Amino acid sequence: SMTQTNSQAFEGHPMLDYSQKSVRKTVQKELVSLQNQLPIHVTAQVGFELDQNSLSLHRVYSPSDLSICLSESLYLNKDHVQQVVECSVSAQKKWKKTTVNERMKKANKLADLLAKNRTELMALIALEVGKPLDEADADVCEAIDFCRYYAKNASDLFTAKDLSVLGETNHMQATPMGIVVVIAPWNFPLAILCGMTIAPLLCGNSVIIKPAEQSMGVAKLFYDCLMQAGFEKPVAQLVPGLGEEVGASLVSHPQIQGIVFTGSKAVGLQILNQANTLQPGQKDLKRCVVEMGGKNALIVDEDADLDQAIDAVLSSAFGFSGQKCSALSRLLVHQNIFDEFQKRLKESFEALSVGSVLELAHQIGPVVDQESRQRLEAVIQKHSAQVVSQIDVSSLKNGHYVSPTLFLEEDPNSDLMHQEFFGPLLTLFKIRDFDHGLQIMNSVEYALTGGVFTRNPQNIQKAKDECEVGNLYINRSITGALVGRQPFGGFKLSGLNGKAGGADYLHHFINWKTITENTVRRGFSPEVSV
Ligand code: NAD
Repeated sequence: SMTQTNSQAFEGHPMLDYSQKSVRKTVQKELVSLQNQLPIHVTAQVGFELDQNSLSLHRVYSPSDLSICLSESLYLNKDHVQQVVECSVSAQKKWKKTTVNERMKKANKLADLLAKNRTELMALIALEVGKPLDEADADVCEAIDFCRYYAKNASDLFTAKDLSVLGETNHMQATPMGIVVVIAPWNFPLAILCGMTIAPLLCGNSVIIKPAEQSMGVAKLFYDCLMQAGFEKPVAQLVPGLGEEVGASLVSHPQIQGIVFTGSKAVGLQILNQANTLQPGQKDLKRCVVEMGGKNALIVDEDADLDQAIDAVLSSAFGFSGQKCSALSRLLVHQNIFDEFQKRLKESFEALSVGSVLELAHQIGPVVDQESRQRLEAVIQKHSAQVVSQIDVSSLKNGHYVSPTLFLEEDPNSDLMHQEFFGPLLTLFKIRDFDHGLQIMNSVEYALTGGVFTRNPQNIQKAKDECEVGNLYINRSITGALVGRQPFGGFKLSGLNGKAGGADYLHHFINWKTITENTVRRGFSPEVSV
């Protein structure tokens, strides 16, 4: 059936077309020229003079090629945090008085600058976190989309809502909140960092940006674009540092008003706890936007189109080596098609190629760092008896490669069925019927993404009614949410359902003031001349 199209739909920035030889050439050239400029030097961008001796050096190597040093960052420590916050507080006095129009112009300028530097940004994303080039391109496009989409939303939000009646005027007016701390993950090193930064800025807040340790190079290039777009330094400060040290002390600082975080469940819960443990001098309840992990499932029903399902499974589970919060990790397959499906899935799976993401031919790259690799290898080791298929990576010695692995599980309570691994691991589980699948899907503590492949209209309706996920996908892959079309974010222990890329996202970063004036009065006082 025809789907009604929405003429108001947000148009995302178009991705590069790799079928064009010229595009491949441009990207290849960028990769070479970027490698000649490495390492990227990252220093804190704050509104005061730093004593160089108080900083510590941290290096990041490319997970695809450990001989390439990507970045050298000078980290702040927790003793710097007081001064950083003070600079934000004084910058905020002027910044909060800017008009939404000025802020929108800067956000759109930022989008243009990101678009202008897209190949450099994507090459750096590929090198720094090992994201395949096409997905690195999507990361850049999403960042651009966040800027343009939120800019559009901001102008609506800051238009006062008129709720007047006879005899009294009522207006509800959005106002800036204050200082917002941005704590970002490495897996969408540009898009998520950019979205979480530009949203509070558009609302007239100052931001303190604490990027992930693994992706400081991308954060630096992003920050340069932010400055070029006209956001000034103390309004947006960049603070390289350890999460548990600098991040944690920013979170508990009494003079900040908001925290926007995307990352693991453990850290998200800690942030929620610390943020509103009142500190001496704290005058605000800190607004927290906390988006965390997932243990995402896909149900394959007995009447599903298996070819389509296999494509969707492979891209959802193994795109960016499974290092997406939305990634598929539990595959729930109807018993009547289980053997047939498993056989076909194995064949397609084993044809995937793993290797450096600097070559377009590889569909799966490395994982982000040594810690991740060792953690994932331990999971594979522990469940070696349940491995049904695996791609061997033992010949790839120069990077953090992990064997993409399919497991078979019969125990619905095992860690394969409940723990987020954040890697190229997929667990198959046989379901008796669609209802059993829904029950298993909903049995985890997370509720982020999920999907069903079925041609049964009743089961489609059941999925819509009963799947406990923030983003449900029917007969397609379960990753790749688009700004303005699939507002993103989960509930249960996946987060506070912030819905990034949605029309209401900016509401997290404002204070509403409702202003009522009694207009049944006897004129203004005579000494006031208008
Ligand atoms: P992480 O929680 O380890 O780190 C995220 C950020 O928190 C980093 O900047 C880190 O330095 C900082 N941090 C660490 N300890 C801190 C502390 N005690 N106080 C304050 N800040 C601290 O997560 P990660 O490894 O970067 O990202 C992977 C996780 O992110 C996965 O669980 C994934 O599911 C989740 N994720 C969720 C979404 C979503 O939208 N729901 C999107 C992307 C990633």
